[in-house]
Amino acid sequence: MGALDERLDLLYRLGGGAGANRIAGGDAETRACELVSEWLEEAGLEVERDAFGNVVGRLRGSRPELPEVWTGSHLDSVPDGGRYDGALGVVAAIEAVIAVGRAERTLGVVAFRDEERGCNGSLAAVAGGRLPGRFVELHVEQGPVLERLDAPLGVVTSIVGSTRREVVFEGAAGHAGTTPMDARDDALVAAAEYVLRVRAAARAIDGAVATVGRLEVEPGAVNVIPGRVRLTVDARAPDADRLGQLLEALDLGPGIDLAPVELDPTVRAVLREELERLGLPAVELPSGAGHDAGVLAAAGVETGMLFVRSLNGGVSHSPDELTSDEDVALAVDALTGALRRLADS
Ligand SMILES: [Zn+2]
Repeated sequence: MGALDERLDLLYRLGGGAGANRIAGGDAETRACELVSEWLEEAGLEVERDAFGNVVGRLRGSRPELPEVWTGSHLDSVPDGGRYDGALGVVAAIEAVIAVGRAERTLGVVAFRDEERGCNGSLAAVAGGRLPGRFVELHVEQGPVLERLDAPLGVVTSIVGSTRREVVFEGAAGHAGTTPMDARDDALVAAAEYVLRVRAAARAIDGAVATVGRLEVEPGAVNVIPGRVRLTVDARAPDADRLGQLLEALDLGPGIDLAPVELDPTVRAVLREELERLGLPAVELPSGAGHDAGVLAAAGVETGMLFVRSLNGGVSHSPDELTSDEDVALAVDALTGALRRLADS
């Protein structure tokens, strides 16, 4: 078992329970930050914490006046989360920066706090104004695309934009036994047709996804025709045009909650070339989940993201999350090559 694997295990076990339990703000997340700080210091990096508790370890460059190049991810997890989500991006970053060694630009390994509840650590870093010039986040895909393509690694094109809405269907409640079928105004039947429309609309737009995740039926009795249904729609697409089309197709009107973020074309090209150097297909894909990388990109940092294949059908936020040692080794290799180039130009 190599150092990276041992470190993943140590982080995984910190909070006890059935999976990763490093909940933001809890003892295990704090302990994870302390452990990572120790590993960074052992590796000879200068470690610093910002006011929010984000950890940055720096390896001073020969031209420290140039904007810094950072890599890393987050250390918090959801309850009973997976072994790789967030943690892999931090431990891989340590290995890659050690492998690059001293470069022109100062290299930084960052461990953001409190990502799972809405990227609060990276948002705090942006608000504090202490940002690198370039950032690369390595993260597990958390989906099945790379596994289906038989590709170990992928370069992220954008972080999807999303909109969440509540839709209400009004009908007329009535007696389930005495109201003839042709005299009903069943709110749940209308809602059911809409749920199917949501699926069809998302399938018709490349890269779009949409989900009805909650449905409340009133009055909710076995022998009463539903009079009112409230449901939620979560709609996502890789760019504003496609998200707009999706919202229109669902009669949701305009309005994007979280704007899509395009990742930096130069950093993406460097990552693609690293995959080619390793003899791998240079797969590109959007990220359907939010990430600290999206926050930094939106703040003007030249940002790229490298996805590593998730096995087990792409399951994530679960102890079943799995990524192979071989894929992790390839990812560290690609990240090392990319950092070397980004820190010397
Ligand atoms: Zn994550």
